[in-house]
Amino acid sequence: MSAAFNVDVAIIGGGIAGLWLLARLREQGYAALLIENAQLGAGQTLCAQGIIHGGAKYGLHGQAGQTAEAVAGMPDLWRRCLRGEAAIDLRGAALLAEHQYLWATRTPTSRLAAFFASKLMRGRVEKVAEAGMAVDHYPPVLRHPHFHGTVYRLDEPIIDVASVLTVLAERYRDAIVRHDGPALLPADGHLTLRHTDRAPRVIQPSMTVFTAGAGNAGLPWATQQLRPLHMVMARGDHLPGPLYAHCIGASEVPRLTVTSHYDAQGRLVWYLGGGLAEAGVHRDCDAQIRVAREELQALLPWVDWHPVEFATFTIQRAEAHQPGGGRPAGFSVFREGQVIAAWPTKLALAPLLAEQIETVLHTLNVQPRPIDFSPLADWPRPTVGVYPWNREDLAWS
Ligand SMILES: Cc1cc2nc3c(=O)[nH]c(=O)nc-3n(C[C@H](O)[C@H](O)[C@H](O)COP(=O)(O)OP(=O)(O)OC[C@H]3O[C@@H](n4cnc5c(N)ncnc54)[C@H](O)[C@@H]3O)c2cc1C
Repeated sequence: MSAAFNVDVAIIGGGIAGLWLLARLREQGYAALLIENAQLGAGQTLCAQGIIHGGAKYGLHGQAGQTAEAVAGMPDLWRRCLRGEAAIDLRGAALLAEHQYLWATRTPTSRLAAFFASKLMRGRVEKVAEAGMAVDHYPPVLRHPHFHGTVYRLDEPIIDVASVLTVLAERYRDAIVRHDGPALLPADGHLTLRHTDRAPRVIQPSMTVFTAGAGNAGLPWATQQLRPLHMVMARGDHLPGPLYAHCIGASEVPRLTVTSHYDAQGRLVWYLGGGLAEAGVHRDCDAQIRVAREELQALLPWVDWHPVEFATFTIQRAEAHQPGGGRPAGFSVFREGQVIAAWPTKLALAPLLAEQIETVLHTLNVQPRPIDFSPLADWPRPTVGVYPWNREDLAWS
């Protein structure tokens, strides 16, 4: 085996948390190396709806607590990154939409919820009509004469997640490597990087940061929880244009959260989460599709849903364990010795998570130093994974 390769920080896992941390540490001059054992974004990140939450969704039912405060600045930060005006330069990555909408049906409970949301979040929610905008500013599908609900516009951009991963992966390519072997765990302070085509390589990091999502489970001192979702996708020419909106109902979770994407064939895809995905975890695919059709028929009855094709898949949200099993109020960072375990909880919070980890490095006096990555120049690199609507193993019906 060749001599150990010394780095300041080894990052295990290349979802949004690991890639953002790599970018931040590299920009600060740290010798940081990211190790991925599958494809970049292959865990939760490419399954995310890409909404950069500004806190409005969490304020729906009067619970504008710690989470809302933590996320309030994220839409602005991400927009500045996308324009190349912040420390992490995301120029080249795309915004799918400037705003997420919030739409309330006519039932009293959901109207009430929308009212409270608008009061609670003040500047972060605008009622579309009151903001001087006519109905023609509604999302296209809600401009129908049979729609009598209320529409709010949230300060929540929607990003094209894969484009963000691609920009980061290309910019820091020299520092991103593929590992094919068993799950990496630090042994006596070092990691052994393996690939079927290469001789093993020992990496000697000052610190190891696990941003491996569900793969953080290997660290017994940092317990995690997994919360499932049963997501639904609808595709085809019969969809009534793109929609980015939460439909709010009676509960704390939006009844339905819709984002819109285009698949590899250029077809429009509605990606459906929210209450439908949470309540659907005990349904099989057919039952979940049936409920999705019923829900869309109930909420948007003027659309012909028969020709629209549907597919579903389940995915676990990996987060730090919470007593009671609810969603953590923000990101989570744990440390034992020279190892950190981190979960962003939301894709939108990856910048805050990276900032916190950098603070821990300062506290531990880990100093940035120059590095020459050429000894790893020939090491295989992971590619960016695929969106769920482009997966070939899903059955559409
Ligand atoms: C359906 C869904 C929708 C969501 N929508 C949103 C949204 O709209 N907005 C939002 O802000 N958040 C959203 N989230 C949450 C968000 O996706 C996650 O918080 C975020 O993507 C987690 O990123 P991560 O990098 O920590 O983990 P992951 O994305 O899971 O990445 C972990 C990476 O580590 C790799 N890995 C695992 N084990 C190992 C190992 N042993 N060695 C090396 N590599 C390893 C994996 O292959 C993967 O690439 C959503 C989540 C889900 C599931």
